[in-house]
This record gives sequence, C-alpha cells and structure tokens, in this order.
Amino acid sequence: NREIHLASRPQGWPTADNFRLVTTEVPTPGPGQLVVRNRFMSVDPYMRGRMNDVKSYVPPFALDAPLDGGAVGEVVASEAEGFAPGDIVLHGLGWREYALVDAKGARTVDPDLAPVTAYLGVLGMTGLTAYAGLLDVAAMKPGETVFVSGAAGAVGSMVGQIAKLRGAARVIGSAGSPAKVERLRALGFDAAFDYHDGPVRDQLRAAAPDGIDVYFDNVGGEHLEAAIGAMKLHGRAAICGMIAQYNATEPPAAPRNLALLIGKRLTLRGFLVGDHGHLREQFVQEMAGWLRDGRISYDETVVDGIENAPEAFLGLLRGENIGKMLVRV
Ligand code: NDP
Repeated sequence: NREIHLASRPQGWPTADNFRLVTTEVPTPGPGQLVVRNRFMSVDPYMRGRMNDVKSYVPPFALDAPLDGGAVGEVVASEAEGFAPGDIVLHGLGWREYALVDAKGARTVDPDLAPVTAYLGVLGMTGLTAYAGLLDVAAMKPGETVFVSGAAGAVGSMVGQIAKLRGAARVIGSAGSPAKVERLRALGFDAAFDYHDGPVRDQLRAAAPDGIDVYFDNVGGEHLEAAIGAMKLHGRAAICGMIAQYNATEPPAAPRNLALLIGKRLTLRGFLVGDHGHLREQFVQEMAGWLRDGRISYDETVVDGIENAPEAFLGLLRGENIGKMLVRV
C-alpha cells in the first residue's frame, strides 16, 4: 500500500518536498470497518489551508501521516453490515491506495447511474457547492446577471451552467487561459475573459455594462473588488473561496472598496458546503436530470498514479485543470 504523507508544512507555495511517498502494509478490517482499494481521489483547494498549523473549520493535516480527502474505490474486505466486496463506495480517506474506512464514513454509490468520478465532482461535493452557493446563499433569481470567477474549475463551471439553466439573463465567467475562456463560451457562458488580459474591473465592465446582480466568488482579491464595483443596488455575493490568497504570505491588497456595501446595500455571504446537506437530495435529482438530458457538461482533468498526487495538487493551484482535478489511484 502506497500513501502520501505530509512531510513538512509549506510556507507560501507548496513544493514536492512537502510530501513523501510511503509504503505500508495493506490494512485488515476490524469490526464495523471496510478496506477500500481506492480508484480515484480528489485534490481540492481547501487542502492547502489544512497544510497550515492553524485552527480552522477543519483540523490541520498531521505531519508524517497520510493526507486525506474525498475518494471513491472498491470494497475489497468488509467487517461491516451493508457493505460487501465489490461495492463501490465514496469516503474521506484519499491519498492512499488502500483505505481502512469506518462504515459510517462510507456511502455506497451506483457505478451504473454515473461514472464513479462524478461522485467526486459534478454529482458530489463541488457540484453541491455550486448549486447551494448560487441558489441558496446568493439566492439567484431568473432574469439576473451573474458573474463567477474561477469559472473553468470544478465549482465555477457548474455555477455558470446552473445559472443559465435556472434562468439567468446573462452569465459572465473569468478564468486563467485562452483555452479556458474558449471552453466557457462552449459551455454557454454569455461572456468570458482571461484575467491575465487586463484589470478585472475593466474586463468585467465591458462584459456587463449594466452591472451584475450576483457574484460567485472563488478567487477573492482583485476579482472581489471588481465584482463589488460592478454590483447593482441590493447585489448579493456568495463567498465560496479565495484561492488567489491561499499561498500568500502577506494579507491581500484588495478589496479596497468595501464602503460601497453601504450605499448599494450589498450582501456578501460566506458559506461552507457542509452546512447545505439538506439540499443534497434535491441537487442530485436536478443535476442527474440535466446530465441525462445533455443540458449540462462537465470536464475532468485526470492525473495518473498515487505517486503523482502531490503534483496534481500543485497543478490545481497553478490552474492546470479544466473542470474537476482528480487522481487515478
Ligand atoms: P478549481 O477546479 O476551480 O481549481 C482551482 C482553480 O483556481 C485553478 O484551476 C485556477 O484556474 C484557479 N486559480 C488559482 N490561482 C488563482 C489566482 N491567483 N487567481 C485566480 N484564479 C486562480 O477548484 P474548485 O472548483 O474545487 O474550487 C473553487 C473554489 O471554491 C476554491 O476557492 C475553493 O476553495 C472553493 N470551495 C469552497 C467550498 C465551500 O464549501 N465554501 C467547497 C469547495 C470549493 P485559473 O486557470 O482560472 O487561474
């Protein structure tokens, strides 16, 4: 069994040296446990925060121990009722080939209903984040104009498409490369721009001359400042992530225009997907329908091999993914 340990805590940008590939025995299950041969694991931006030794909404990763995170795999041994070898399960112990999972931390998924990777992305955590953030937190209504940053990523690409399907008048996305911008247009975004091509404020104004009603923030910093500037009266923002500052060693310079919240009566609301589990059923129903009808598309970037999981994670932070970043274990 090969697994990836956190060897040291990154300062600023992580490097390969912060990780270590370790070989251990394949575990055997105790009562109430399963052993899962992982097939795919997720790498996610929030993992960067867990590499710091700070108190947050999830505890930090321990040093010299395997990292963890969303994974799907096949049960190879079970001492738990309701799970049998051959079952495909979703659980939280990625970053290793074989996981010893408590049954209460595993959920059986149906590989005939959707490809197993979908349970880590479009039908899983990132899909629900987009759905809950847009429709619940920002309470988007038909006819509104929506701007989403990080738009070619796992969450952002869903936000833009869900907005269109739920009746947004105009959807604008920003992303980090010409290929991503092209992809956004193909996904049905009304406008898209590369944030390297000029100030976000100017590019957003050109794309949404009448302003925006809703901003879905995956990036923070300059993007958030530009969105606040572009928001109409009573505009709302779902603050989902601020990836522009996850590796920063200095506090961000922007946004500098928070005083606009007053006159424009804006609402900026942070949220965690974990608080929106009550929407899961409704989300899966609606998303499965859109997928079945071919009304939503999703991209995946797959890196092969557990030994390359650190590189996949670093690639995610550098923007090398289109759609959900995954590792085939
Ligand atoms: P993505 O698939 O969007 O991957 C991350 C992307 O971030 C990269 O592809 C890159 O794309 C972009 N990025 C990296 N650095 C910068 C930067 N400096 N400026 C602008 N863009 C940057 O990841 P997810 O969809 O999984 O996550 C998106 C956001 O949602 C993250 O901020 C994450 O923390 C947050 N999140 C929050 C949750 C919650 O419960 N609140 C749950 C899940 C995710 P590019 O080429 O465009 O730069």
